Amino acid sequence: MRQLQSQLAIAALSGVALMLPTAVRAQRGGRGGPDNRPEVTFPVNLPTDDARMAALKKDAVRMIDSMSTFTGQMVDEVFSFGELGMQEFETSKYLTGILEQNGFKVTRGIAGIPTAWVATWGSGKPVISLGSDIDDIPQANQKPGVGYKDPLVPGAPGHGEGHNSGVPLNITAAIAVKTLMERNHIQGTLQLWPGVAEEQMAAKAYLVRAGLFKDVDAVLFCHVGSDFGVSYGTSGQNALISAQFNFVGKSAHAAGDPWAGRSALDAVELMDVAWNYRREHLPLTQRSHYVITDGGDQPNVVPPTASVWYFFRETDTPKVQALFALGDTIARAAAMMTGTQLTSVNILGSGWSGFFSKPIAEDMFQNIKAVGMPAWSDADQTLARGIQRELGETSPRGLSTRVPDQLRTPPRQEDLRGGGSDDIGDISWNVPTVTLRYPANIPGLPGHNWANAISMATPLAHKGVTAGAKAQAMTVLDLLLKPTVVSQAWDYFNNVQTKDIKYFPLMRPEDKPAIWLNKAIMEKYRPEMRKYYYDPTKYKTYLDQLGIKYPTVRDTTKAVP
Ligand SMILES: [Zn+2]
Repeated sequence: MRQLQSQLAIAALSGVALMLPTAVRAQRGGRGGPDNRPEVTFPVNLPTDDARMAALKKDAVRMIDSMSTFTGQMVDEVFSFGELGMQEFETSKYLTGILEQNGFKVTRGIAGIPTAWVATWGSGKPVISLGSDIDDIPQANQKPGVGYKDPLVPGAPGHGEGHNSGVPLNITAAIAVKTLMERNHIQGTLQLWPGVAEEQMAAKAYLVRAGLFKDVDAVLFCHVGSDFGVSYGTSGQNALISAQFNFVGKSAHAAGDPWAGRSALDAVELMDVAWNYRREHLPLTQRSHYVITDGGDQPNVVPPTASVWYFFRETDTPKVQALFALGDTIARAAAMMTGTQLTSVNILGSGWSGFFSKPIAEDMFQNIKAVGMPAWSDADQTLARGIQRELGETSPRGLSTRVPDQLRTPPRQEDLRGGGSDDIGDISWNVPTVTLRYPANIPGLPGHNWANAISMATPLAHKGVTAGAKAQAMTVLDLLLKPTVVSQAWDYFNNVQTKDIKYFPLMRPEDKPAIWLNKAIMEKYRPEMRKYYYDPTKYKTYLDQLGIKYPTVRDTTKAVP
């Protein structure tokens, strides 16, 4: 008994001793103990660059620097088109034209989506696929280089998410790599594609369904950020189901004969009220939001039709399916309460939560470190501080100037607290994938907002895209010439990522891409926006064309109004 007590005492004491570093670690990162998750412990052994590879990467960097004006002009041109999801007609026509001029074979209108396309060059294995989004944000129209709200076309859409920059980055990287492959007789296939209607999560699952990735060995996706980085394993990106609930009632004179009518709008409102009550009893990880897309025509007619469009988000696929099922139940209950019918539920988009490849991320991270952050000018920093100050930062921090030393381990499931989504998730569960984040935007901005458009056709974005293109091209070279990177990526994909989880589409077999999305908005604004399309044959930059002094910020000695 005594012996047992002393053993317990020792255990308790050593427990205290062991607890200490854990507690310290918990304070730092909210985690305790060694991270034994298989996605973290998976051993990656990257071959180092031999003399040939070092020379190839140097050539790629030189070529990409020599293309910087062209890269900036692509970024500016897509910025000036400012097209919403599914309506990226000018954008896709322009980008595919450049790819064809540079020897890529282009197939347009893939997966039943008029603005989607795939461009390929080369032959045989490996097949390396480069993607990025191209759509923009409603009501985010903004003059570039101006550090306060100042739209070119008030009310019009604009690149308030920076999706004008990713495909130009991939095109520059691909042209450089293609040139090196030709010169040095390197085998492989390059594939490029656009993320159409990413803001509606409406296209990538259809690209998967159309078989675009069935022969692909690795996908390098890229997305604008304010930092330079890459991640692996579980991401903070939520799984998502986008669904429109359509109700049908009965119209009647709203004053003369209201008892003869059944309001479809009542069903929409009661569904929303019920959802907002239920929200209190849902896990903190869920995110859900809605807009009423049809609320009737005029007050004196009982609305015979009404629709509400929901985004349901959760940290993984089974959870988001359960969340959607709850929404569906509440919609049916709302129809019962109001004597209306829930006639259809359109799935307008969907996406798995992203999960990214450790071997490719580790490889890319070395390349990012080798490239380093762009050298920001005083003008770039002044623009950044100007908008940060405008949005209420009392000591504006400006732009990030360094790449972190370490590739971060992925967040634990229990640390996930919800947030945005990207339908790259669907692709990441079909092929080893990473997302390169390149520094072409300003830290501390709200996102999906005019403020995020300010930097996107300025030297700040041009430098960030050129830096990103270098890291992207260097990683493509690694994937082409170091077969073990690809084989390790598939080992991780098969034996860690998809060991217990197999992909299935969240949309139903009968669902089709919602290609009509945003048509009316673009038809309304396009004639006015067309007047501001960028003409690179006349002006070196879009700022030159618009006659904007870079940067234009408010007098920083005065208080923000
Ligand atoms: Zn985005």
